[in-house]
Amino acid sequence: MQTKKLHCTSCNKTVNATIKKETEIYPDRKAYLAKREPRDYWACVCGSHVRVDKEKVHVRYVLTTGKFSAIKNNIHSLIDPIWKSKKMTRPEVYRYMSKITKTKDFHVSLISCMKDAEKALKEAETLNGLYFNR
Ligand SMILES: [Zn+2]
Repeated sequence: MQTKKLHCTSCNKTVNATIKKETEIYPDRKAYLAKREPRDYWACVCGSHVRVDKEKVHVRYVLTTGKFSAIKNNIHSLIDPIWKSKKMTRPEVYRYMSKITKTKDFHVSLISCMKDAEKALKEAETLNGLYFNR
C-alpha cells in the first residue's frame, strides 16, 4: 500500500498517510460523484485528509479535519472568486497571500496550524472585500 509521511493537524504529529478515494472520504457525495471521477486523498487513520494534488504543484501536504478543514474551505471560497473573475491573476492572489501571511509559498493545503489558518482567513476576507461588496 502506498503511504506518505505527512503532518496530521489532529494527531499533531507526522503520520503514515494512505490513499483513499473521495467516495470513502465523503460518502454523502455519492450522487454528485457519479458525474465525475472521484479524486484521491491522502488520509490519516484519525480521518484527517487532504486532496492529492494531481498537477504536483505542491508536493508538501498537511492533513486536516473538522473546523480546520472548514476554515480552509472558507479561505478558498474567498480567494478563488478573485482569480476566477479575473480581478487578479491566480499567481497574484497567491503572491499577495504569501506576502501578507509571511509564508514563502502560500497555499491553503499547506496551512499547518489553526493560528495560521485563522490569520489567512482574515486576510482572505480583507482581500475578497476589496473586490466584492458583501
Ligand atoms: Zn491523524
